[in-house]
Amino acid sequence: VAPIRTQVAIVGAGPAGLVLAHLLHLRGIESVVLEARSRGYLEQRVRAGVLEAPTVQLLCDAGVGERLQRESLRHRGISLRFDRTDHHLDFVALTGRSITVYGQQEVVKDLIAARLAAGLPLHFEVADVRLRGIETDEPEVAFTDGDGVHRILAAPVIAGCDGFHGVCRPQIPAGRLTVFERDYPFAWLGILAKAAPAQEEVTYAHSDRGFALASMRTAEMARLYLQVPPDEPLEDWPDGRIWDELNARLAVEGSAPLNVGPILERGVTTMRSFVVEPMRHGQLFLAGDAAHIVPPTGAKGMNLAVADVAVLAEAVERFFATGDSALLDGYSVRCLRRVWRAEHFSWWMTSMLHLAPGADAFERRLQLSQLRYVTSSEAAATSLAENYVGLPYGS
Ligand SMILES: Cc1cc2nc3c(=O)[nH]c(=O)nc-3n(C[C@H](O)[C@H](O)[C@H](O)COP(=O)(O)OP(=O)(O)OC[C@H]3O[C@@H](n4cnc5c(N)ncnc54)[C@H](O)[C@@H]3O)c2cc1C
Repeated sequence: VAPIRTQVAIVGAGPAGLVLAHLLHLRGIESVVLEARSRGYLEQRVRAGVLEAPTVQLLCDAGVGERLQRESLRHRGISLRFDRTDHHLDFVALTGRSITVYGQQEVVKDLIAARLAAGLPLHFEVADVRLRGIETDEPEVAFTDGDGVHRILAAPVIAGCDGFHGVCRPQIPAGRLTVFERDYPFAWLGILAKAAPAQEEVTYAHSDRGFALASMRTAEMARLYLQVPPDEPLEDWPDGRIWDELNARLAVEGSAPLNVGPILERGVTTMRSFVVEPMRHGQLFLAGDAAHIVPPTGAKGMNLAVADVAVLAEAVERFFATGDSALLDGYSVRCLRRVWRAEHFSWWMTSMLHLAPGADAFERRLQLSQLRYVTSSEAAATSLAENYVGLPYGS
């Protein structure tokens, strides 16, 4: 079979790969997207749901924000609960910007629909993806397509958008990347429930029983999380125990219990901070979770993936328009500034809110002091708010 030739080969059709493909299309640059899973799987995969203001702006400017604007929930801020009291942070008052709740799979659906409607190449259920010659000017991606045919995709630029467990990053020779990593001694048990959210906005709870988070996807669908040990078996959490524990951790004086409904989806997610530097090797450019992971407490994962590819699209455009690789050469440094800000913010939110195994009274008092500070000082609240709503691109 003759090689497929394109300008950018994109491995992975998560938010990073799909947004990149779309931004390149708007700039008149051809790409081919290769995805290991089926369309149905991608469109059902429940993951992140909080969009920063710059992410919403980018999707709307790129012409894929129509359903987002119609169906998403716009939130003025978040609540932090501790000492059995609710403290609301009003991000709009503090920063002039809001956050938007819209499921990651909805973003993915909108982008897949836009790509297929434009008749652009997106191959689902590919296998055996291997990169060749990434240190040369003529790299290739070998893969087996959904019909079992072995194919070669030749492209001067390869974007590794295949997530943390993808195949691109491991194909970079040992010693060429520096890895920064922290594991956390807890995980999140997350559920999606067909139940009206009891809180109007995303609510984080610091409690002596451990952390809990009450979020939502729609006005009828709640997304709820409990801190659990990292290797927690799901079988130990029948529905009744999940609801009881959520109520115990989220309760504040005078609050009504959560609305209970069928649990449609459940899973345990481990927590990790991870960054590789640089985010590039030869003609392979890593973006999103392929290059970095944050614990989900700061709601940054999907937003960082989008921010990376905004930088990459601009650099690729310059390269193909003029042959100038200066922006491509600066890609990693430019992205890593935002990545490390999000790494710090996510680590800080996680450390402030979770009950670490063996934490003593000293550490718990430090957490409570920090929580009281961010909910009583306008300066501290503004710092949290501007990180949460998303710092402007390029800052
Ligand atoms: C279970 C879970 C829950 C999460 N919850 C939250 C949350 O509540 N809030 C938050 O902010 N973030 C959350 N995240 C993080 C957020 O979802 C990610 O940061 C985001 O998906 C990153 O987008 P991405 O495109 O870089 O990677 P992904 O979304 O992981 O996309 C990578 C794509 O590459 C594909 N792929 C992998 N290997 C190959 C291969 N060999 N060949 C071809 N394709 C391949 C994958 O199938 C996938 O579609 C969660 C992540 C997980 C895993």
